Amino acid sequence: MDKILVILFAILILGFDYKVKGHPKPLENELLKDPIGLSCGVTINEYRGFDYDKKTIKKINNLCTKTLAAFSIFMDKKGFCSKIDNKNFSWYFSFIPIGTNYRDLNDTVWRFYNRDFKFVSGYTEIYSNYSWIISDPNNKLFDLTIAHELFHALSYSNNCYDTYPVETFEEKLFYDEGLAKEFTRFLELN
Ligand SMILES: [Zn+2]
Repeated sequence: MDKILVILFAILILGFDYKVKGHPKPLENELLKDPIGLSCGVTINEYRGFDYDKKTIKKINNLCTKTLAAFSIFMDKKGFCSKIDNKNFSWYFSFIPIGTNYRDLNDTVWRFYNRDFKFVSGYTEIYSNYSWIISDPNNKLFDLTIAHELFHALSYSNNCYDTYPVETFEEKLFYDEGLAKEFTRFLELN
């Protein structure tokens, strides 16, 4: 708590020139005043760089609902995850511009300096229940990325990693990436 106060105080003193290293989650001034809770279990905490309207949010919610339903069918077919239950699914999304500017999706100098992957349209950190996604709804990667990152979120939430036919955690992550790509093809998004 003290640390947070000190950091906030430092930001107040130094103003706009102060840059934060690390901290992928939104900073106080980046958070939506009213986070958007979707019926599929996702909460949108941040939406920057593009105007969004009710239609965009509805489109995201529909895609999310469709992805959750398709996930069960896909994993059943594959024979992974012993019991899929998405009723209590809870995850967080930030929609941010894809560029390399400070605090954007590919700012690997400051915001995502710990990230191994360099240029991405989406990124999921399973331990913090969080995904960062390209915010331009007109980009052809928009739907694909939402479904891809949701796959990672769902497979992690449903303990599917335990059922993958590989040993180490790194191998499980790699296996999950392959399945995510297969899943979006199953959804005919790529
Ligand atoms: Zn992935």
